[in-house]
Amino acid sequence: MDDCLFCGIVARRVPAEIVHETERTVAFRDIAPAAPVHVLVVPRVHVTSASTVGHEHAEDLAAMVVAAREVAEAEGIGSEERGYRLVFNVGRDSANSVPHLHLHVIGGRPMSWPPG
Ligand code: AMP
Repeated sequence: MDDCLFCGIVARRVPAEIVHETERTVAFRDIAPAAPVHVLVVPRVHVTSASTVGHEHAEDLAAMVVAAREVAEAEGIGSEERGYRLVFNVGRDSANSVPHLHLHVIGGRPMSWPPG
């Protein structure tokens, strides 16, 4: 989509620090990191939100989770001893701000639960 920020990053129209790519996904560092490691994994195809995901997106979703694991391993937080958080924000209450599906990979520091 022409006016979508993350489609722009996928298409290299918008600059970003891309750290991982597959046939179906692109992963780049969050511009306002919430932790020492904060990477966003997005599908190359435009999907607006987890609230609009359907069975037709199954392969993209699986590719995103595998990409997140590979990013975490590459960033040195993939082990059970370290660990990380995977987050899909959906809608206003979650503070979702970019309408292109993205999986947050957050880690590198201890985190509490529940989130704020
Ligand atoms: P969400 O609240 O789940 O919609 O998360 C959107 C995330 O995108 C936020 O953590 C932002 O900091 C991040 N973000 C916004 N613009 C950019 C950008 N141009 N490059 C990288 N990350 C971005």
